[in-house]
Amino acid sequence: MIPPVFDYHAPTTLAEAVALLSQHRDDGKVLSGGQSLLPLLKLRLGQADHLVDIGRIPGLEYIREEGGVLKIGGRTHESALEESELIRTRYPILLDTAKVIADPLVRNRATVGGNLAHGDPGNDHPATMIALGAEVVAYGPNGERVIPIDQFFLGFFSTALEPDEILTEIRVPVPPPRSGGAYVKLERKVGDYATAAAAAQVTLAANGALERVGLALTNVGPAPVHAVAAERHLTGKQPDGAALAEAARLAAQAAAPSADRRGSVEYKREMARVMAVRALGRAVERARG
Ligand SMILES: Cc1cc2nc3c(=O)[nH]c(=O)nc-3n(C[C@H](O)[C@H](O)[C@H](O)COP(=O)(O)OP(=O)(O)OC[C@H]3O[C@@H](n4cnc5c(N)ncnc54)[C@H](O)[C@@H]3O)c2cc1C
Repeated sequence: MIPPVFDYHAPTTLAEAVALLSQHRDDGKVLSGGQSLLPLLKLRLGQADHLVDIGRIPGLEYIREEGGVLKIGGRTHESALEESELIRTRYPILLDTAKVIADPLVRNRATVGGNLAHGDPGNDHPATMIALGAEVVAYGPNGERVIPIDQFFLGFFSTALEPDEILTEIRVPVPPPRSGGAYVKLERKVGDYATAAAAAQVTLAANGALERVGLALTNVGPAPVHAVAAERHLTGKQPDGAALAEAARLAAQAAAPSADRRGSVEYKREMARVMAVRALGRAVERARG
């Protein structure tokens, strides 16, 4: 339970933090809430000679709508999502997601940016951000770049972030009227990582048909699974039971789970289907108001 020795850096500006990360490109790491990184170091599953703590850099914790976009600062805590009136009233899918991450102690320290940057297929925000069609802002030596969420998760614990880039913001397009979203997770006990989970975000046309569908799955593959075939199947259709059931079947087909103590491949795939149909159903209910 004791991590390997490391040098601790506590910069107070983004530029300073990026300079430190560039200097220690091969053996440095960003430290944010520490809720994934510190356990990894303590269990000796990871190593970093230099930890660059971004917790003293001002201006990275916020939740606001601006110019048709919901902006979430990279160091915004999970607990801040839970407490936000804006999130509670306009983004229930984000509230669903934050509430099922670990426990309140972890959520007081864990950050949304860290949840994405870690690239853990068991983390809950990646699927939700895919369903929402989010973008991620990375700040590095050459300034800022914007990464569409579909290009962000490259594989098992692997993201598009360079070692000397800091995730500073998550951008979510403000959903149009008649939109709704939901995140549904099966866990062995409260606070556990998902056995399987699904995030769904939909927008309905005036005639009640599905105009836009975002659907993604958690922990049933080496990276979050974007259920593109399921989305295509639903778009333009009325969201009746048969259409949602077929979409959930297509989503489960896209999953690539591996067997572990949370269950067999078959069980996880079936649970992914069940989570998908429930998330879609709840998203449609919410979109109907
Ligand atoms: C007991 C326990 C249970 C948990 N259960 C869940 C769960 O159910 N669901 C879930 O989703 N998560 C769970 N987690 C994991 C944890 O909550 C998330 O991974 C957390 O959000 C990570 O954020 P952090 O700020 O703590 O990141 P850190 O631990 O500080 O960092 C994690 C990784 O991301 C990098 N990083 C962090 N922030 C940035 C940034 N802004 N820019 C660039 N790189 C960055 C770090 O270098 C590191 O590699 C659990 C953790 C614990 C301890």
